Amino acid sequence: MDADELLARSLQQEENALAAAASARDDDVHAAFASRLRGGVETVSRHHDDLAKAVALSVVPLDRLDAEARALVTASRAAAAAAAAAAADASSPSPSPAAKEISHEDARLLRLLRWFKREFFRWCDAPPCDVCGASGPELVSCVGMTPPTANDLAHGASRVEAYACASATCDGAVTTRFPRYNDASKLLETRRGRCGEFANAFAQLCVALGYDTRWVIDWEDHVWCEVFSASQGRWLHCDACEDACDQPLLYEKGWGKKLSYAIAFGRGGVKDVTRRYVVDFDATVAARTR
Ligand SMILES: [Zn+2]
Repeated sequence: MDADELLARSLQQEENALAAAASARDDDVHAAFASRLRGGVETVSRHHDDLAKAVALSVVPLDRLDAEARALVTASRAAAAAAAAAAADASSPSPSPAAKEISHEDARLLRLLRWFKREFFRWCDAPPCDVCGASGPELVSCVGMTPPTANDLAHGASRVEAYACASATCDGAVTTRFPRYNDASKLLETRRGRCGEFANAFAQLCVALGYDTRWVIDWEDHVWCEVFSASQGRWLHCDACEDACDQPLLYEKGWGKKLSYAIAFGRGGVKDVTRRYVVDFDATVAARTR
């Protein structure tokens, strides 16, 4: 074998190694994508468990929400009648935008969303100290992950965050665990979390109340829900962290995010619903790297 041939072989080996590494990276990306899809299907299928639905119904103040919904329907009916009268009055200078009467189911959904965000579920960046009750970022800080217990795993928490407390009592000791539960029934008990927990628990309540519900994840960092409005014949975006309903461009226009995928998981299967959430769908698809 001469020197040229040796060099050629060595270059070829290098090229093969690079190609194999790139292919392994692609496999990792595909495996991660598939794993998220499987996780979503499992999360949603648990929402239809009879016991999970019964637990959900036990925490919802249904009579109150129904009363609030009836008031909302009455108000929307009056607004619709006033708008119709204004439109019929030719002398009216500028007719108001068409107000429509809302259905009881849609009104109850709006009141459920408001109650959930304002009164029921709490945002949790860092949990208060389990030993002395101290809270706030100057005292309680995340020091990494800690292994899940059997009980954590039983409620779908494979990730558990550990927090140290800097109060005089705790003196920097690691005192507090924050299991990131994936079990909606458990979340209805702890009533705290970040967007994943908000959307999971809210979707569970919607399913229990009989709404056709989807759990939606984007491929960046956010999770929300969609609920089918039978009266409007379409899916309504519902973000329980924001008390926002039917504002699908909230993320791109409001938050300045660039979405790559928004995937909805529901009883009817898994669906790419990205188009509803982006300003320019063609540009979004062109920018996808996976
Ligand atoms: Zn403490």
